[in-house]
Amino acid sequence: MSNDKTYSYHTHTAGQLRASDIGQHVVLTGWVFSRRDLGGLIFIDLRDRAGITQLTFDPDYAGGDAFKTAESIRPEWPLMVEGTVRERPNNQANKERATGDIEVLVESVEILNTSETPPFPLDDEAQTAEDLRLRYRYLDLRRPVLQKNLKMRSDFAFALRSALHDQDFYEIETPILGKSTPEGARDFIVPSRMQPANFYALPQSPQLLKQLLMIGGIERYYQIARCFRDEDLRADRQPEFTQVDIELSFVTQDDVIDILELCLRKAFAAVGVELLTPLRRIPFWEAMDTYGSDKPDTRYGMHLVDVTNIFKDASFKVFASAAASAGECVKCINAKGAGVWSRAQIDKLEDVAKKHGAAGLAWMAFKEDGSLQSPIAKFVSESELLQLKEQADVNPGDLLLFAATKRRAADEILGALRSHMADALGITQALLEGTYVGPSGEIAPAHDFLWIVDFPLVKYDEEAGRYDPEHHPFTQPVEADIKKLESDPLSVRSYTYDFVMDGFEAGGGGLRIHKRDLQLKVLELLGYDANLAEEQFGFLLEALSFGAPPMGGFALGLDRVCMLLAGAPSIRDVMAFPKTTSGSDLMMQAPSHVSEAQLKETGIKPSEK
Ligand code: ASP
Repeated sequence: MSNDKTYSYHTHTAGQLRASDIGQHVVLTGWVFSRRDLGGLIFIDLRDRAGITQLTFDPDYAGGDAFKTAESIRPEWPLMVEGTVRERPNNQANKERATGDIEVLVESVEILNTSETPPFPLDDEAQTAEDLRLRYRYLDLRRPVLQKNLKMRSDFAFALRSALHDQDFYEIETPILGKSTPEGARDFIVPSRMQPANFYALPQSPQLLKQLLMIGGIERYYQIARCFRDEDLRADRQPEFTQVDIELSFVTQDDVIDILELCLRKAFAAVGVELLTPLRRIPFWEAMDTYGSDKPDTRYGMHLVDVTNIFKDASFKVFASAAASAGECVKCINAKGAGVWSRAQIDKLEDVAKKHGAAGLAWMAFKEDGSLQSPIAKFVSESELLQLKEQADVNPGDLLLFAATKRRAADEILGALRSHMADALGITQALLEGTYVGPSGEIAPAHDFLWIVDFPLVKYDEEAGRYDPEHHPFTQPVEADIKKLESDPLSVRSYTYDFVMDGFEAGGGGLRIHKRDLQLKVLELLGYDANLAEEQFGFLLEALSFGAPPMGGFALGLDRVCMLLAGAPSIRDVMAFPKTTSGSDLMMQAPSHVSEAQLKETGIKPSEK
């Protein structure tokens, strides 16, 4: 805050005063963070969003009135104090604190309000159950760590916004009450009072509206957009979240990526993170093949190793049959250091593999004494073992985990195990703390940024027996592959790019279909017959027939990026008022019942549970 203007309540913030201010007469406001009564003197740590300043109340100073008042003051009362900055006496400087060289000797104090005793301590070190913190989120927000996170979020968003503005993007708001846009999740729906039995859908993203803006000639659009998806929640998911949503006309994929890199570089720089552009681009299939994930953290190894060739004639049937079948493979990862785990510990990994579609889990633990422990040991020949050790770089203490099935399924199983093992072996934590020594022998960088490109247009959902979009139904197929849309849809690539940060999908986008016929064709591939396509996307199809320009765009998951920047375990830590994993707002008690009258007005009859 600039100090040029005099504010009615204070002359400085509580984070501002330094040794160079000694002797100044100041007025501060803030909350009582802590109070220590040392017999003769009372010390109060006064906290505002900028920091903490120590106040000293001396009974012999300025008539002793302030001291008398201070005797009654309790934690979290807001105060206005007037006094003089002085050096802290001998050896009492606090080097950990920016204001630690000084204190304010208080002359007068005004109690601006009182406070109940907070239901939990507000210092960052206190371990308080999250439910209690969420119930009193306004108190939780006073904690320095949340203050810091929200400021960082604001700085990042502001810098991104201004970088986009500098590139001639218009900031445009799109409606919250709209029609369903399929992004692969369930919609939140809102009943219409004026048109009973009709519903709006809250936007899962402004996808179609931003495409319509391009058809409307806007050319460059962005919005810090709230999106709503009714999904089962996890640590990094919330029912409503924020995307920095972007769209451009007359662009190629390279154009979009270039502009995004320019703007993202500025935004990350604003919070002290260097984005070394151009970022690496890894094709989807290469990422799946090497890391088993389309959002890999590449700072650590544990790459997937294809050992299909070793097991062509294996006596272990599962491996032999996968090795002999077209489209299937035998692959493994080497979890270095986990070979010393107990059998019970290793057996638990099977649950992880099964959760990701495996029928079981084959493993080999190479003990420090040179022995091999493995449920499949008796099926593996000397020569197979030798080749395996060489190809998977096995040393004593290593654990090999296998998947033998269809290529993509095997990659996904091993990808899940790779990130599970990174957590279990402390790699994730070390990365977070900046102490992880990577395969290169050097400390791994604080963040890992890359693009995943060349996604397939669709994937096949075995259970539902249909093709699903890999991104969403409006993605432009690669020109040269369009002819294979009917004959070999799985081989059709799309112009899609995901922005991956530290092993998380932090953003994604693509070029869009801008021709009506092609859009219809893709919708047909996805199982929409002409009637359904018309019913759901008639407005888009019609708009595409009015000279839609080539276009592409992107959406950045602001919450997720801020979570990673803050090193926080959950996006809840970078949102002011998050919901619990069961979708409740514990402070406002939402969702809640509504009155009979409200239900009647909207024509809704809740079914009894
Ligand atoms: N609407 C997309 C999403 O939310 C992003 C994009 O394609 O621009 O993932």
